[in-house]
Amino acid sequence: MQKIDTRCLHAGYVAKNGEPRQLPIIQSTTFKYDTSEEMAKLFDLEASGYFYTRLQNPTNDLVSKKICDLEGGKSAMLTSSGQAASFFSIFNIANAGDHIIVSSSIYGGTYNLIAITMKKMGIETTFVSPMSKEEDLDKAFKKNTKLIFGETISNPALTVLDLELFAKVAHKHGVPLIVDNTFPTPINCRPIEWGADIVLHSTTKYMDGHGISVGGAIVDAGNFDWLANKEKFPGMCTPDESYHGIVYAEKFGKENAFIVKCTAQLMRDFGSIQSPQNAFYINNGLETLAIRMERHSSSALKIAEILEKNEKIKEVIYPGLKSNKYYALAKKYCPNGASGVISIILNGGREKASEFMKNLELIAIETHVADAKSCCLCPSVTTHRQMTDKELLDAGIDPGLVRISIGLENFEDLREDIENSLNNL
Ligand SMILES: *Cc1c(COP(=O)(O)O)cnc(C)c1O
Repeated sequence: MQKIDTRCLHAGYVAKNGEPRQLPIIQSTTFKYDTSEEMAKLFDLEASGYFYTRLQNPTNDLVSKKICDLEGGKSAMLTSSGQAASFFSIFNIANAGDHIIVSSSIYGGTYNLIAITMKKMGIETTFVSPMSKEEDLDKAFKKNTKLIFGETISNPALTVLDLELFAKVAHKHGVPLIVDNTFPTPINCRPIEWGADIVLHSTTKYMDGHGISVGGAIVDAGNFDWLANKEKFPGMCTPDESYHGIVYAEKFGKENAFIVKCTAQLMRDFGSIQSPQNAFYINNGLETLAIRMERHSSSALKIAEILEKNEKIKEVIYPGLKSNKYYALAKKYCPNGASGVISIILNGGREKASEFMKNLELIAIETHVADAKSCCLCPSVTTHRQMTDKELLDAGIDPGLVRISIGLENFEDLREDIENSLNNL
């Protein structure tokens, strides 16, 4: 098999003789057929093909094929956003009356989705520490538990999930492990190699990498045996009346059942489709993902090491640092680097944090991460500004914390910008 940096360029779309060299954008909502009978087969899931872009589009499929290849999965799909990818991957197997186990260290948007919106839909959640031991996880299980969910390197706390342990415990209880692999990307970590069953992405971050298009992706490892756990997954293992009684796990096997069901039911009903134009942008980003991740990761590590020695900074949080409590896990799961996001805690709380950010010239203040251009955000003066210092500390956020997403600028320029800002505090 070709190396992953080669596959970033060539997996998915392969041009045949006389065809366009670049991925074609099929900007068409609909597809034409000669007979109704042919189209009927598609509606009945008897044949695979295109009929309406809300369900599937050739450009989107080629980009999902590339992401699937990079993650080492068996089938995949794109979604309109990372949020849609998280929702679909959970709701495809957990419904009203079910219970799920979720790492407490996850993206704020995912937390709201699970703790508030999915709760209203009747899905109950037990949040567990990402540092949970086997017996802690065992205790969180209930009869109606359907899955475990976590983030490889979490946004924004930068904790690292013990993938092998979480996968082992999930499988012991007959449920899949779903992993949000947005921050490492398959360049730095491939959760499927450690036992994850479903991997999802906010492609908005490093995969696009240029802050152009919001998007998401879901990849199925194709390893989870739904039929062996029939009673837990009726949606997968009993007839779907909306498709003439098809049983997904039987008809499509463990390699395809999850994605076919997710497309045929959830995409059909919720319509959170990626636009082909944006899928093209994601593909453009994917072509350079490997070299970008290498640069993001190496610059972030160098900056983190320098800042750790600066007396104006109380703490630097980056799993690639030897002093970080997740260092061993980061080395194990992300041997190529811990990506480009670091957090620093300034002495002097939110005032100093705010001043530090104002002094920066190159690094922009943005609610964004994982972009080619460096950016930063201070929760205590923006996203969490309504909270008091005490409330922030109780939530595990130091008021002086600034999250910096290290971009692709020359390392010396980044260093100068940060050091100038610190010197002027
Ligand atoms: C941004 C993000 C999401 C949500 O993705 P959107 O594309 O913004 O919907 C989910 N998970 C992680 C880890 C993220 O960073």
